[in-house]
Order: sequence, then C-alpha cells, then structure tokens
Amino acid sequence: AAVIVAIDGPAGTGKSSTSKSVAAKLGLGYLDTGAQYRAITWWMLNNGIDVNDATAVADAAAKPVIVSGTDPSAPTITVDGLDAAGPIRTQEVTAAVSAVSAVPEVRSLITDLQRSIAAEAPNGIVVEGRDIGSTVLPDADLKVFLTASPEARAARRSGELKGKEAADLAATREALIKRDTADSSRKTSPLAKADDAVEVDTTELTLDQVIECVVTLIEG
Ligand code: C5P
Repeated sequence: AAVIVAIDGPAGTGKSSTSKSVAAKLGLGYLDTGAQYRAITWWMLNNGIDVNDATAVADAAAKPVIVSGTDPSAPTITVDGLDAAGPIRTQEVTAAVSAVSAVPEVRSLITDLQRSIAAEAPNGIVVEGRDIGSTVLPDADLKVFLTASPEARAARRSGELKGKEAADLAATREALIKRDTADSSRKTSPLAKADDAVEVDTTELTLDQVIECVVTLIEG
C-alpha cells in the first residue's frame, strides 16, 4: 500500500532536506507545500494583486495553474507553465507569502491540490509543510513535527542563502521569527502540531541523524 508521510514544522528545521532524502531513500514521491504557497504568491505579485488585500487575493486565487513535480531527486514547480523554482525563493516572495497563505480561499485550493497529488502518488509520498498532519492529510501513516532552537534555524536558513543575504545572521533570525509569528498567529490553519505527530528536536542533530530517525519511524 502507498505510504503517506507528513513532515511539518517551522522554517529552518531541515524539513525540505530531510523530506527529500527520506523520499529518495524509500522510493516515495516528495511534495514541498511551501513552494506551492510561494508560487501562488509569486503569481499575485506578478499580476499586480495587493497581497494585503485579502478580498483581491481570494478573487484571484483560482487563476494561476500550479503544477508540482514530485520526484525527490528533481522536484519542480511551474505556474501557468513557467518555471517558478528560482523566483519563489526571493526575499520579495518570502516577505509576502504569510499574507497570501492566510487567505482561506488560497488554503482551500492548495489543500485540494495537495490531497490529489498525494492520492495519485503510486508508492506514496512525503509531504512537507505546516498543516499537513493536522489538516491536509490527517490519515497519514506517519506524522513528524520538526523543531529546532531559533538560533539553529536562523543559522541553517542563513547558510542556504547566498552573498549579502547570508552575511546578516541577525536579520535572517528576525525575518524568520516574524514569518513564524505571522504563520502561527493567523486564524485559518495555523502552524500546528497534530496530536498524533512525533516531535523531533533537531537542534543538536546532524541532517543524517534526522533522516535516519524519520526512516526508522517509517519502517518501525
Ligand atoms: O516552507 P516554506 O518556508 O517555503 O513556506 C513558505 C510559507 O508558506 C510559510 O511561511 C507559510 O506562510 C506558508 N505555508 C503554509 N502552509 C504550508 C506550507 C507553507 O501556510 N503547509
């Protein structure tokens, strides 16, 4: 039977690296749901929608066609056929994504998309995000909630950025905490650990140790 794994947690906990490696090791698909929220945000910005106008965002939410490729060794994301993998990682998109992803119409459309992608994965899939175990896939075979100290998260996120952005650790830490606060304080689908999720604190663990831990939980 197909194995469905939900990996949730805030930014900088190693969710993406862990999820991709676990999926590749076990021959499962991989879905980055943050990339989908970033993709719809990128489309809003490109199309002159005020991201702080929830009504305008809701009215436009169904327009972009977002397609995610689920091969963990080469995940892809397109919006209306355009490659969005690069542009969704800019600071502009990162700063706007919390507002867009708070809009219920956006969440409902993206949630439907996530459920259909998970249902179609032949061997199963690792889905990473914020609300996967709690809301999107409540019947997942395994739910993992990754955490790490704010310092460890800022250091990891900073290491992923290049040049000038990476240099400013303090600013990265601040932006990260601001985004987590926005994500977790909103009324619709907050960043929440499912009651039956296994919490793994990654602060003192290497990436390999976290991967090993999740693989053991799946195979266990
Ligand atoms: O994981 P990543 O940092 O790329 O996610 C970007 C943003 O997308 C988050 O800050 C959050 O606002 C939103 N998101 C969400 N629900 C998810 C995944 C991401 O609201 N399942």
